[in-house]
Amino acid sequence: MNKNTINSDFSLNVLNWFDIYGRKNLPWQSNKTPYSVWVSEIMLQQTQVKTVIPYYQRFMQTFPSVLDLANAPQDEVLHHWTGLGYYARARNLQKAAQVIRDQYQGQFPEQIEQLIALPGIGRSTAGAILSLACNQHHSILDGNVKRVLARYFAIEGWPGNKKVETELWQYADQLTPASRTGDYTQAMMDMGATLCSRSKPDCDHCPLAQTCLAFVQGRQAELPHKKPKKDIPVKATIMLIPMWQQQVFIYKRPPSGLWGGLWGFHEVDEQQQIISQAEKLGFDDVQQTELADFRHTFSHFHLDITPVVLHLKQAPQTQVMEDTQMWFDLLAPQNVGLAAPTKKLFSTISKNF
Ligand code: SF4
Repeated sequence: MNKNTINSDFSLNVLNWFDIYGRKNLPWQSNKTPYSVWVSEIMLQQTQVKTVIPYYQRFMQTFPSVLDLANAPQDEVLHHWTGLGYYARARNLQKAAQVIRDQYQGQFPEQIEQLIALPGIGRSTAGAILSLACNQHHSILDGNVKRVLARYFAIEGWPGNKKVETELWQYADQLTPASRTGDYTQAMMDMGATLCSRSKPDCDHCPLAQTCLAFVQGRQAELPHKKPKKDIPVKATIMLIPMWQQQVFIYKRPPSGLWGGLWGFHEVDEQQQIISQAEKLGFDDVQQTELADFRHTFSHFHLDITPVVLHLKQAPQTQVMEDTQMWFDLLAPQNVGLAAPTKKLFSTISKNF
């Protein structure tokens, strides 16, 4: 069998499977536009479909067009992202919407190079947007597709490695058909998510099983190879929670860096700094209660958090700077973007009322 036959058999099998089993009723699949596909693709990075659906629906109700997103306050955008994690995705989404507003008169660009130049859009996401929404002939290589191809061709090495990735892109480009590209893109994402899953690939129902090297060689558990292990460092912080009645004092973090643009608690490194930091914030007379420690894990480090509630003994006297500080009312929460540990602490404190 020559290479062209392998390629057309591969895509034909994938498309035939898609016609019967592919997902066709996800919220972002009706009335597809580059904007709606883009939002869904960004949300789906690192996050499962069932988690994304309600976030996507709320997001599209509030920001139905790229201009609505571009013109919204950043706090509102981050609020709609609260709980999804990886907040740089939301900040980049809005930055890209602003570029589309300012450089493309609000019209979503439809050239792949223009999309890749936007913040937060890589080659695979650009390919997904243009193939799914415009049926253009571009390939994709997200985590699911990498897994399918790495297994199908029994590719050695971790797919995040540049050389391995380049090889996978070559296969992706060769296999992506020029017709029904959008369906093929969706099919590959669906196959990776439902059939060729990480831990329990359902090879018995896979249309590629006959020619899949991992299946033939019984190497599904081994492939794709895992990222070489590296111990990630552990950092520690003390979060200060000034509290008056049902309100807690939070501030808006700087726009870039950890939890950029989100609201959270002031932090100190050492117990001895708690009182001086509280005084700096204008809270002189407080009673401290330490809550249970917990760990928050980022991709590149663990953060051990010790929360300390500072109960104010009298009503706060200092004026808040409205853009960057607020008394957050736990019984009537304001709509702002919150980092996951902040949200967790709100819920812990609320339970103790
Ligand atoms: S046969 Fe199994 S390992 Fe190969 S692509 Fe299909 S589900 Fe994945």
